[in-house]
Amino acid sequence: MAHTLPPLPYEYNALEPHIDEQTMRLHHDKHHQSYVDGLNKAEQKLAEARTNGDFALVKHWEREVAFHGSGHMLHSIFWPNMTPKGGGQPGGELAQAIKQQFGSYDGFKNHFQAAATAVEGSGWGILAYQTLTDQLVILGVEKHQNMNEFGCLPLLVLDVWEHAYYLKYQNRRADYVKAFFNVINWADVENRYRTARSARIQASETARA
Ligand code: FE
Repeated sequence: MAHTLPPLPYEYNALEPHIDEQTMRLHHDKHHQSYVDGLNKAEQKLAEARTNGDFALVKHWEREVAFHGSGHMLHSIFWPNMTPKGGGQPGGELAQAIKQQFGSYDGFKNHFQAAATAVEGSGWGILAYQTLTDQLVILGVEKHQNMNEFGCLPLLVLDVWEHAYYLKYQNRRADYVKAFFNVINWADVENRYRTARSARIQASETARA
């Protein structure tokens, strides 16, 4: 199923004077749309590769998935993260968690603003929930992918650093990758999948259940 551009949850000029109408029109209609289109194209090309059994360009298209997928997901969170009557401070459990992790709301705000300001080149300031430790974390992400796709929870992971295989496989990483499939604990992966689905967030993108 193709990804689609979610509509803005407010008018283009609704965030004036903080964010101007022309910026919102270009950012949403042009930039975000290009991530949606790029992700759909990459997924289509990878589907063709599976059909053909030709994975010669798999690294290129996985880069495209990471870049456009991360861009699409982060912008889909960014729009509803803002509202014309926004500002103030968080409440409830989030306020408690911020105080616990960062000492105070001001500690969080100063840290977040510093991290976002210091990102080299293009990037994002991100407050994230680390699902493995049940903690909040602030990230100053460069670009927005680095072969990742934010919003994904890891279910099955394979370490391909040389330290993970070099003693036995030396330069033959492909053999190591194949061998990994003889030792996968699918019951563990299945359990992680069930747990991850309970943490599913209703993003503004059309539900893809
Ligand atoms: Fe953007």
